[in-house]
Order: sequence, then C-alpha cells, then structure tokens
Amino acid sequence: MNWKKPKVYAVKHIDSEVRAASRSGGIFTAISDEVLNHGGIIYGCVLTEKFEAVHIRAVTADERNAMRGSKYIQSNLGDVFKQVIKDLNDGKQVLFSGTSCQVAGLRSFLGKHYDNLLCIDIVCHGVPSPAVWKKYLQWQESKNEGKIQNVDFRNKKDYGWAAHIESLFFDNDKKVDSRVFTTLFYEHSILRPACYKCPYKDVVHPGDITIADYWGIDKAAPGFNDNKGVSLVLVNNELGEQLFQDIKDELDIRETKIEDSMQPPLKAPFDIPDNREQFWVDFYTTDFETVAKKYGGYGFKNDVKNSLKKIKRKIKRLIKR
Ligand SMILES: Cc1cc2nc3c(=O)[nH]c(=O)nc-3n(C[C@H](O)[C@H](O)[C@H](O)COP(=O)(O)OP(=O)(O)OC[C@H]3O[C@@H](n4cnc5c(N)ncnc54)[C@H](O)[C@@H]3O)c2cc1C
Ligand code: SF4
Repeated sequence: MNWKKPKVYAVKHIDSEVRAASRSGGIFTAISDEVLNHGGIIYGCVLTEKFEAVHIRAVTADERNAMRGSKYIQSNLGDVFKQVIKDLNDGKQVLFSGTSCQVAGLRSFLGKHYDNLLCIDIVCHGVPSPAVWKKYLQWQESKNEGKIQNVDFRNKKDYGWAAHIESLFFDNDKKVDSRVFTTLFYEHSILRPACYKCPYKDVVHPGDITIADYWGIDKAAPGFNDNKGVSLVLVNNELGEQLFQDIKDELDIRETKIEDSMQPPLKAPFDIPDNREQFWVDFYTTDFETVAKKYGGYGFKNDVKNSLKKIKRKIKRLIKR
C-alpha cells in the first residue's frame, strides 16, 4: 500500500560520472546497481539503432547503462510484461522502471502482489508520438545531407542540467543543436491522447519510488544545485523506504518538503492545445519544414521574433533597475 503523502528527498549520486551520464541526479543507477548486485533483473527504456524507444530486460550494468537518459517519446513495451511475470515466477528480484501508466499497467497485468517486484516510475510530462520523432529525424537528415549516428534528447554535457536542447550527431561529422522537437514537446500537440487525462499528475504515484528532475531545488535545498543534475525522489511506501535506506551510501541527500517540489506534472494534466487538430492535419498533409516553422519555432521569422522578445526582456530589466 502506498502512503498518502510520500517522503521527499533531493539526491545526487556521489559518482560524478554517473551523474553526467544520467538525466538528473543519477538515482536510477543507484537503485538499479543495488538490484543488479543482488542478482536481480532490470527493465527499462533504451533507444534502438533506429532511434526508437523500446523497453528491454537487462542483467548487466552495461545493458542497464543504455537505459540512462530520458528518451522523450513513447516507449514500445513489446512483450516485456510477459518476461517480467516469468522472472517473478522464477523467484528473481525484478526492478521495472517506466512512466507511471506503464508501472500501473504492469501491476494490473500481474493482478497480484509479488514480494520480489520493485517499481520505479518517472514524473511524466507526457510522451510525444514516435511518428513525429521519426519524421523530424528524416527532415534533419535530408537538411544536413548525412545519416544520424547518435542523438541526445537533452544535451546536459554541453548546456547543463537546466537547459533543454536536443543534439544530433551525423556521419559527416556535423553536430546539430536544435530546439524544434523540444518546442513541439512543450507545445503539447504531439503528446499521446491519454496524457491529457493522465491520472498520475498527482503526488500519489504507482511506483514504490518515483523519480524526477528536481525543479524548484534552489528553494527546496538552497546551495545544493550545481547545474549538473539533482533528482527529486518520492519514496511512496515501506518497500521504497527500505530500498532507499540500502543505497544511501551512494548518494548525497537532502530531506525536503513536497510543498517546495510541486512542478506542474505533479498537479494536473495539461490541457489539449486549441491547435492540436490543425497540427495533425498539417503533419499528415504538408512537409516537416512547414510544420517546424509553424509549430516548432524554426526559421528566420521565428528567429527574429525570439530576438525581439529577448531585447524586450532586457529593456524591461534595465527599466526596473
Ligand atoms: C517522456 C518523459 C517525460 C518526463 N517528464 C518529466 C517531467 O515532467 N518532470 C520531471 O521532473 N521529470 C520528467 N522526466 C523524468 C526525468 O527526466 C528522469 O527520468 C529522472 O530525473 C530520473 O533521473 P536519473 O538521473 O535517475 O535518470 P536516468 O538514469 O537518466 O533515468 C533513466 C530512467 O528513465 C526511464 N526512461 C527513459 N526514457 C523513457 C521513456 N521514453 N519511457 C519510459 N521510461 C523511460 C528509464 O527506463 C530509466 O528508468 C521525464 C522523462 C521522460 C522519459
Ligand atoms: S503523461 Fe500519464 S498517461 Fe501520458 S505517458 Fe505519462 S504517465 Fe502515461
């Protein structure tokens, strides 16, 4: 049974390399290391060679490492629920990680409690459609006359934890930093329909532990933020608490308050944008460049608009002073 109110922590993994390889503070690695060290199995999301997000089963740290980093598209679960049930029935310790609806879906599929199952869910903004991601990559490849070799949905290495810039690495040695997919994500038209009525936009979650980026950290734990990543950790029940105690030596921790941690996806689902229907008509009937210009902040007109906005903000700040 999950508590009505979680225990709340700000967490940084003590190994700076782990933190650099993780989206926020590296809590997922600390938890999954504990499970792997006891012969357990990890389920989570990786990116395939075709840059599709899928869930896989991992039994080594190397396989698990591919799960690090947020892939901001819907992950295909394939038949992992069947693999999970087999591992559980074989008496193996299993850690399943995913969005809240994936964790809730697994619990409902299992239909009963298993002592050997641990679940982590992520605080989830919503998942973009993989079809938009695919068309976006094709557009970037044709524009840059090369094949994409690697992608980083949110380049923390070059821009720091708080920034949101996607980077694409090409076989012709080009590196492209862009905000087109990021902008589409935050404009919300590309989210899956279920995300607009998500029942997990709340402090109560289906995981034993819930993890997120700790937005609001400067208020919740002043001085803790170094822009290299801090995880928000919600411990939701006794099982989660026991696990959290077991990994404490790997972590730098501050106990915080839920009131200081309330980012929008912990409060309510996002509204369906007024232009969502039009977006999808345009997506299927025009080329991606037109979509990128109309909805993704791409192109000269958008650059001018953004520069003007920046100048206005600067003038306002000067006037205030
Ligand atoms: C689609 C999506 C939306 C998110 N929205 C928010 C948000 O609104 N606010 C917020 O604070 N944090 C959000 N996050 C979660 C957050 O960014 C990190 O997952 C969390 O901070 C864990 O930190 P870590 O350092 O332990 O990360 P990592 O080690 O990088 O965590 C990796 C974990 O994320 C899981 N994962 C990665 N991509 C996916 C995917 N597509 N589907 C399911 N699971 C995935 C992996 O299985 C693994 O468990 C989102 C993540 C995703 C994938
Ligand atoms: S927003 Fe809710 S419904 Fe959408 S993927 Fe995330 S957890 Fe699932």
